[in-house]
Amino acid sequence: MILSCENLTLDFNLFRAIDNCSLSIVEGSITGLIGPNGAGKTTLFNLIAGALHPKSGRILYRGEDITALSPDRRFHKGLVRTFQIPHEFHLMSVLENLMVVAPAQPGESLFRNWLDFGAVKRAESETLHRAWSTLEFLELTHIAHERAGQISGGQKKLLELGRTMMTDAKLVLLDEPAAGVNRTLLRKLEEKIALLHRERNYTFILIEHDMEMIERLCDPVICMADGQVLIEGDFHSVRSDPRVLEAYLGE
Ligand code: ADP
Repeated sequence: MILSCENLTLDFNLFRAIDNCSLSIVEGSITGLIGPNGAGKTTLFNLIAGALHPKSGRILYRGEDITALSPDRRFHKGLVRTFQIPHEFHLMSVLENLMVVAPAQPGESLFRNWLDFGAVKRAESETLHRAWSTLEFLELTHIAHERAGQISGGQKKLLELGRTMMTDAKLVLLDEPAAGVNRTLLRKLEEKIALLHRERNYTFILIEHDMEMIERLCDPVICMADGQVLIEGDFHSVRSDPRVLEAYLGE
């Protein structure tokens, strides 16, 4: 297991948004997180990423208790939520947007860099190389020098995935990747997620309302309702479960 949530509970004032919720994520899986609006999916993501802290329960990541760690510490351990990386800089080029995310940026210590100018140059060229390979992987080299603010919604989603690839991500939380993406780019986005999973062994958890995307990409699928896991299984068994239908009907 790459991640285990054990008996998590979180209240917003008197409202219990996450209610004794437990789940485990298998390393190397693409797990789909579905459920009606208000089920607690986003709140669970916030707990896993560290933006919120549970009232009780704990979160284990690669065997380590990370319940008390800040989002930043989790990020540096490879637990990355897409929007944790600041949204694209509109005036910067697509390529520059990738370069600014790279870990261990040169410039962290001006003094050290002043002493070792060669090291800065090497780090910069490595970052550039990594950014360019990322663009090749995403088939976005043709827009490398366009301003990020001017590319399409789908291309922005691909860029967001690319920014994840500039980190040392191991577990990636994707919050509605399909939202606002046209069909053609959606297929490409799916293809790239599947490739990252297969070839680089990324683990993904994906919140998504697009059931076709969930069906094509995810196994297992976890359905949440009322702050708890209602059922977990393969797409078809989850979708045909009467409890799931009932939960969506009550939305
Ligand atoms: P989902 O992502 O499954 O739609 P959420 O995690 O966004 O569900 O929300 C779960 C419940 O918690 C909802 O009833 C929502 O209204 C409530 N909620 C979420 N965030 C807050 C907040 N900051 N303050 C109060 N209630 C919240």
